[in-house]
Amino acid sequence: MKRCQVGEVAFYTIDELAAGPGVVAAVSTRHGGVSTGPLASLNLGFNCGDEPAHVRANRYRLCCALGLEPHRIVCARQVHGTVVRLVGEESAGAGFGDPAAALSAVDGLVTDQRGLALWLVFADCVPILAFDPDRPAVGIAHAGWRGTAGRIAAALVATMASTFGSRPECLRVAIGPCIGPCCYAVGEEVAAVVSAAVSDPSRVLVAATPYRLDLGEANRQILVAAGVAPAHIALSGQCTACRVDEFYSHRAQGGCAGRMAAVVAIR
Ligand SMILES: [Zn+2]
Repeated sequence: MKRCQVGEVAFYTIDELAAGPGVVAAVSTRHGGVSTGPLASLNLGFNCGDEPAHVRANRYRLCCALGLEPHRIVCARQVHGTVVRLVGEESAGAGFGDPAAALSAVDGLVTDQRGLALWLVFADCVPILAFDPDRPAVGIAHAGWRGTAGRIAAALVATMASTFGSRPECLRVAIGPCIGPCCYAVGEEVAAVVSAAVSDPSRVLVAATPYRLDLGEANRQILVAAGVAPAHIALSGQCTACRVDEFYSHRAQGGCAGRMAAVVAIR
């Protein structure tokens, strides 16, 4: 992943996903927007107490920086679930300027429509972006501990396979910045349900009191178990809680955090 800046807007492009020029895949930072205070400055979420006009302005800024058309962004109301939905032109623009119009209760999106941009928001949870260069098709998922325990990453792969005929071993997948094992203390109940979802819990849980959880590694294991080639999985490894200078972190900011966006589209 490579840090880029267009005007004031800073973001990471996921070049590992875009083997060719045909894909836009990016994760935003907190830099380059108009929001203030703990939400400074590129807050892209409507549900964290910001002025809606600020969120809209920030969303337009990121679209401009990435060369995306706002009326073709598809946004979802995320609920820490495991539902992955196929979206087409009928969903273009959903929820971009008005959160009430976002697709309800989904945490994963897939499409094979060119120019339709799949957009989810994050502050510590794991962004998972996928690209099938053969179809082509793209997908995105939001995985906190609940989504990880429910294996939403595997649901994303399975949905792309059943919908587009994507072969898991041919997918390119990226795991973006998220809270790292350095900062993510969890209780026994969370440790147990995430352990049950992965192939090698010893690499996912740091045995300490309390446990510390590596959500990025957990999702990497779930993707491999779903058939994705390890060499095709790019792991950011950046911790959102360690880097509150660069990202928003729900944990590190005591719940007063803005939201980054992850976005993927076929050009
Ligand atoms: Zn950390």
